[in-house]
Amino acid sequence: MAANGDIVDEPHKTFDTILTLDFGSQYTHLITRRLRELNVYSEMLPCTQKLADLSWTPKGIILSGGPYSVYEADAPHVDPAIFQLGVPILGICYGLQEIAWHHGKNVVAGTEREYGHADLQAKRVDGHVDKLFKGLEDDLKVWMSHGDKLGALPPNFHVIATSKNSPQAGIAHETKPIYGIQFHPEVTHTPRGIKLLENFAVGICGAKQNWTMAKFVDKEIARIRALVGEKGQVLGAVSGGVDSTVAAKLMHEAIGDRFHAVLVDNGCMRLYECEQVKETLTNHLGINLTVVDASEQFLDGLKGITDNPEAKRKFIGGKFIDVFEGEALKIEKEAENSPKAGRIEWFLQGTLYPDVIESISFKGPSATIKTHHNVGGLPERMMNGQGLKLIEPLRELFKDEVRELGRQLAIPHDLVMRHPFPGPGIAIRVLGEVTREQVAIARKADYIFIEEIRKAGLYDQISQAFAALLPVKAVGVMGDKRVHQQVISLRAVQTTDFMTANIFRFDWDFLERVSTRICNEVDGVCRVVYDLTTKPPGTIEME
Ligand code: GLN
Repeated sequence: MAANGDIVDEPHKTFDTILTLDFGSQYTHLITRRLRELNVYSEMLPCTQKLADLSWTPKGIILSGGPYSVYEADAPHVDPAIFQLGVPILGICYGLQEIAWHHGKNVVAGTEREYGHADLQAKRVDGHVDKLFKGLEDDLKVWMSHGDKLGALPPNFHVIATSKNSPQAGIAHETKPIYGIQFHPEVTHTPRGIKLLENFAVGICGAKQNWTMAKFVDKEIARIRALVGEKGQVLGAVSGGVDSTVAAKLMHEAIGDRFHAVLVDNGCMRLYECEQVKETLTNHLGINLTVVDASEQFLDGLKGITDNPEAKRKFIGGKFIDVFEGEALKIEKEAENSPKAGRIEWFLQGTLYPDVIESISFKGPSATIKTHHNVGGLPERMMNGQGLKLIEPLRELFKDEVRELGRQLAIPHDLVMRHPFPGPGIAIRVLGEVTREQVAIARKADYIFIEEIRKAGLYDQISQAFAALLPVKAVGVMGDKRVHQQVISLRAVQTTDFMTANIFRFDWDFLERVSTRICNEVDGVCRVVYDLTTKPPGTIEME
């Protein structure tokens, strides 16, 4: 692929890496996240990973929790070769039981299940706690979630921590660096858990804490250059969102104008957004950007779709691909004629690590592994038909790391902290039929809401906020005249993972101010409501 093998190496080859093997716990990804918060690089792979198929050597291995019982016939088991590798191993919950199972098969169903808080006591031997508990208090609050327990200590192991219900809440091998803990250090309910993970990764495995976005930038730029070569060209769609902007800026830093960004204006973006994105990407960030105004095509096509959100999304997704493909062909033609550059061979995709985790996480012995597809992915005819290869520079990163990377790349704060915005845009925030007039109303109301949120200094505390236009009319009185006009619904939520969300608690003065402005400034609206629905049962978007 590239002349210099070192340069194209992925992070697990250039940074000391802790491998987390996933047994299907709902917390596994948190192990990886916490380690990265400690600036230790970590990757997750399914528990079925064969060591012989791994092209790199981890500094240490963590076995996650999982919903199975190790003694069940179809329970997943780790490749026994990991115990011969000589690198430190830490088992968490199921992981602990798996270590015990491997060393003598003595794990049984407990009579008492333990869910929730527990008080843990680190055991002192000759006055010292085990390395895993170094620097921690002897009494720790921990989080437990298990029903099984060790029947007895496996041979050559000793107890390093106990709790009332779990006399073997922590164990360690006498001579090898193998540890098991019954509790979950990765969850916030174990307040000192991060220190314990640091003790393992840094103290015991000796991993360097050098995973920083500054380092990642340099290495990733070098990797992209080597991958794409001297002449290769890359095409990518941008939306004005954080991920696509960060990915585009990284490509620009690596290969300059040989990266072609395309922004498709679908007529359903926020007020002034298209102009703003163009201004920021072109003038501030120097990205080679083409804006395609396809708003007429989109708005014409949306006419008549009245009561079917899925049809709206489908139409917009399909149209996007048509428009994008048309533009790609034009760029391709120009690129061919340019003496300096070669063919467009690559397509940039802003895949993030949670998508990768989702596609590889261990869902059980019979579960088929879902193949990953990203939003805005290209159709087969472009990828395979025209032989485009994927380049995914954010593939190893969590969202907060992408934001940090954005800061490293000098992307303006407002853009780095931007709330997510759906691909179909305002079309799914105009309930019912999407017309030019309805989009204009929703846009204006949204603009006022977000402007007031920013003025009040609340933007960064909210995960996502928007105004939606309801397809109903209500009676109002304006200037002594009876009116019959539409209703705007405001929504603002707080969430860390977008899987569940709470509503944001504005004060009444704020809501009243927004409501007054919208009724005064947006023609066609005489009423404003605030959406009080958490997720679940509501979704974050309205359609
Ligand atoms: N299923 C196992 C138990 O109940 C492991 C649970 C876990 O890993 N959280 O003990």
